[in-house]
Amino acid sequence: MKQYKRIAVAVDLSRESNQVLDQAVSVCAAQAEISLIHVVEPIASPYITTIPPVQPAGYDLTLMENFKQAAEKQLIELSDEYDRPNLTMHVLTGSPPKEIRRFAKENSCDLIVIGTHGQHGFELILGSTANAVLHGAPCDVLSVRVDLGAEEED
Ligand code: AMP
Repeated sequence: MKQYKRIAVAVDLSRESNQVLDQAVSVCAAQAEISLIHVVEPIASPYITTIPPVQPAGYDLTLMENFKQAAEKQLIELSDEYDRPNLTMHVLTGSPPKEIRRFAKENSCDLIVIGTHGQHGFELILGSTANAVLHGAPCDVLSVRVDLGAEEED
């Protein structure tokens, strides 16, 4: 089997994200570089440009910046569960499928790992993001079927 060296792992920061990262870690060598990616989608509303002062006085973070900071924190929490020195975290902005593909191309990734849990039609086979990533992906794509009920049983 091909030894993957640079892996882009896309997570939506849902409770199932650890299932996607678990699988990515299990298919690559210990020295492989793992880029954990979350894409924050731009907010369309022209009315929402700043958030109420939930941050320290003097800061005027935009809603997007606040989302990005929250995502960074969640990525850190997620990656803390794994003992992988070559794991880096990346919060990107834009359309998730496009950004995931662009990141993989620009960073010469040889594998993209993504979750799937589509419920309807073609999404039953591949979740919409996974489907969109697959088309035009610059490298192999591993779609991990996430078990939505896995943690609810606890
Ligand atoms: P979905 O389109 O909701 O079926 O998402 C399936 C998978 O796409 C998730 O498990 C993640 O691997 C990936 N994904 C969805 N949204 C994002 C996002 N905003 N950033 C990074 N990955 C994402």
